[in-house]
Amino acid sequence: MIPQHDFLALTRRHEWQLDPFSFSLADGAQAQVWDTGVLCIEPASQLRAEPLKEIVLSCGIHGNETAPIEICNQLLGKLLSGELSARHRVLFLFGNPAAMNLGVRELEENMNRLFSGAHSKGVGLCNRERIRAMRLEQYVSRFYSHPGAERLHYDLHTAIRGSRHEKFAVYPFPHDRPYSQEQIRFLGACGVRTILLSNGPTTTFSYYSVRHHDAYGFTVELGKVRPFGENDMTRFIEARQALQELVCEASVTLEPWRPEDFNIFAIDRVINKRSADFRFLFASDVDNFTEFPQGFVLAEDGALRHVVEKEREAVVFPNANVAIGQRTMLLVVPTRLWDA
Ligand SMILES: [Zn+2]
Repeated sequence: MIPQHDFLALTRRHEWQLDPFSFSLADGAQAQVWDTGVLCIEPASQLRAEPLKEIVLSCGIHGNETAPIEICNQLLGKLLSGELSARHRVLFLFGNPAAMNLGVRELEENMNRLFSGAHSKGVGLCNRERIRAMRLEQYVSRFYSHPGAERLHYDLHTAIRGSRHEKFAVYPFPHDRPYSQEQIRFLGACGVRTILLSNGPTTTFSYYSVRHHDAYGFTVELGKVRPFGENDMTRFIEARQALQELVCEASVTLEPWRPEDFNIFAIDRVINKRSADFRFLFASDVDNFTEFPQGFVLAEDGALRHVVEKEREAVVFPNANVAIGQRTMLLVVPTRLWDA
């Protein structure tokens, strides 16, 4: 049994070991360190729930998004100390440790645009985010191995800006698979009652798990970015408890589906940057999900103007400071699921 340490300090010492190192926990579970910030817990056979879940909890894909890192570190600490016992397989991924150490969002590139193989596209491009994204894909592939297990991936983030809906989740494009009411109810248990339905393939981490591993995966935005130590952890009580229950109970008790409990949005348009002259015509600190009146000019991109087309279009993730060809904002509209 390894004595209690800060998890990241624990794994950093083993950064250069090629073989995973593993140790037993007090309840008989096996903890395996696969890499810096990558730790897998296999529940003890007598505690293992049926049906088994394989749960990936990732955080720190953007290194300065501290609240999810603290939430995962606390849950992991309780599992390592024996205060809690895992009943499902769980893989903790602290996404970008080098950026986390520096307290920055990224070193060279937005890691959450580098999955599903995007890390290896583009001639001559190799950087730490790309290498790490490639390895994270490999770890997820290694982890999802138990036949018949339900595969889950919650990629936890905090947003750069405030939001009209403080917590929200992006539901990756599910292709032919129906939307999961149970998963949305679980997000509700996490305090996440605004769901944004993605409309096509992306290069995010959660979409990677959905597309390549048939997992239920979500990008979960839990609030606004703050430095380590400045998070009001009371704002995350529901998320912490729901994730703990997910890992440590055979199943999670969920509220029944009530459409009025959720705000569901569909992505209507994705606005990419076409020129260096791209600029927004609204305040740079506008909240996510802010609506503008029909006809309002949102942005200019050279001669091109982006205008609000529908009665209720709202802006999400506006960011003019991206490379040409990358997304500057999403325009979303309210929609409904399972109205009955
Ligand atoms: Zn993020």
